[in-house]
Amino acid sequence: MLGIAASPGIAMGKLMIRSSEKIEISDEKIKNVDVSQEINKLEKALLKAETELKEVKKKTAEKFGKGEADIFAAHLSILNDPELKKSVEQKIEIEKMNAESAVAKAVDEYSQIFTNMEDEYMQARAVDIKDVGERVLKILLGKNNRLEKLTEEVILAAEDLTPSDTAQIDTDKVKAFLTRDGSRTSHTAIMARSLGIPAIVGLGANYQELSSGQKVIVDGDEGKVLIDPTQKILNNYQDKLQKQQVAEKKLEKYLNQKAQTATGEKVEVVGNIGNIADAKSVIKNGGEGIGLFRTEFLYMNRQSLPTEEEQYNVYKEVAELYMDKPVLVRTLDIGGDKDLPYLDLPVEMNPFLGYRAIRMTLDKKDIFKTQLRAILRASQYGNLKIMFPMISSLSELQAAKKILNEVRAELDKEKVSFAKNMKVGIMIEVPAAVVIADLLAEEVDFFSIGTNDLIQYTVAVDRTNEKISKMHTPYHPAVLRLIRQTIESGHRQGIWVGMCGEAAADELLLPFLLGAGLDEFSMSAFSILKVKELLTKWTRDEAVGVMHHVLRCKTIKEVKEYLQMVAK
Ligand code: PEP
Ligand code: MG
Repeated sequence: MLGIAASPGIAMGKLMIRSSEKIEISDEKIKNVDVSQEINKLEKALLKAETELKEVKKKTAEKFGKGEADIFAAHLSILNDPELKKSVEQKIEIEKMNAESAVAKAVDEYSQIFTNMEDEYMQARAVDIKDVGERVLKILLGKNNRLEKLTEEVILAAEDLTPSDTAQIDTDKVKAFLTRDGSRTSHTAIMARSLGIPAIVGLGANYQELSSGQKVIVDGDEGKVLIDPTQKILNNYQDKLQKQQVAEKKLEKYLNQKAQTATGEKVEVVGNIGNIADAKSVIKNGGEGIGLFRTEFLYMNRQSLPTEEEQYNVYKEVAELYMDKPVLVRTLDIGGDKDLPYLDLPVEMNPFLGYRAIRMTLDKKDIFKTQLRAILRASQYGNLKIMFPMISSLSELQAAKKILNEVRAELDKEKVSFAKNMKVGIMIEVPAAVVIADLLAEEVDFFSIGTNDLIQYTVAVDRTNEKISKMHTPYHPAVLRLIRQTIESGHRQGIWVGMCGEAAADELLLPFLLGAGLDEFSMSAFSILKVKELLTKWTRDEAVGVMHHVLRCKTIKEVKEYLQMVAK
């Protein structure tokens, strides 16, 4: 079965389908309820829920940091809320309900109280109460298939996984994942690459052939799923796996070597991250800095905005980890396929063209300022740089810089210290920004090309839609010209130009990017060593030759065939 290869590698194991069914509890009157038996069932379920929550809190703290684990501390206090428990017990004892119905009803009533409150923060607590209720109900009904609560190794399959679902995946247990929907540059796929697990997305109608318990091989390199493979196929894949491990071992020699071309010319190879765990993984994989910190992941999997202090602690930790090495912190990029349910943003016809990234933060100035304060305060502990996403006009950039300067002035007034000379750059991911790159370059210290969006907006192809995912390619001559143009405009104004879209790790495209003069390549941790190795095979002059040839190609096919022919 074929899908879209979203994250490379091979995994073998038992399939677990994550059902998207809703829990339904019937309202029917329950006869002959054995009160003591139901109370007993309830006590056991509460105890199990408590153990689960403590465990997931601990794991989240280890994986993503304390701030993100706080949500589970809040869940624990709801679980132990004596009033809520009393209400459930009364429903069993007085109204003669069974444990499930009593929990469902009490949670419903209790969360309603919070929903009706004026205060937004209190309203958001209703979501927490329902979440805890659902956890207890799933235990009572034996439907416990939460992502974080896996007891054995599995290949996970789901119709779709949101980026926040993916953030909860326990990579000790989930060896690979498959989804019916999605495409290579959806954020879920990007996260799979940073988790280092194979993934295939966009299986479409094929998805129906999967069922829990099947033995499968996931070939993330080819986008292939093999169901109940024969022993011969299994052996072939074991061999392939072994060869891959040997190849990976060979790359280790580049771990402590600075990225350079065949003639020793230095180029920066850095990592894309979404949290502290990724930041550590980039270091472990030989990254020389961070070219993109997708800070929006700090805002996900929680019920309210992270405070300035919570954000400051994360940015400070990353700054200290990297010391004098650069860390490009991108300001909040919400919208498109990344939602924050607690912000209650309007549903849009075209979310990728809508209220997204800098457009939203310029409008929600409080959210923006809180983040800028946190980044500026953390800037004194390392080499942080700030980067604004989705800039499409000069006035937008000027407005963002004005707010940044306001925050600087406020911190000065409060005598709070921060790095005064922190560099400021922008993502180039909207074609309009490429066209006016000369004007934008006068206002910033660097550009970073976001090809995931640049392709989407140039070719008018939704980056998350599996039906047209073949059209989402950096080999399109229009995209290649825009990349070249961006680098030239940046260099003409004396600023450096990097790339943090997925194309930066595209092995075939590497000589083109090097030849076009790209200064910095930023990618998920697991691609770093391979790109460092490939760079050593090219001289700048050879790469310039490739770049000129590529720019003369007229079609995607011609570009690809030529790049395949010259690949080293
Ligand atoms: C991009 O658009 O290429 C990019 C790096 O940003 P994101 O994938 O987070 O939209
Ligand atoms: Mg983008």
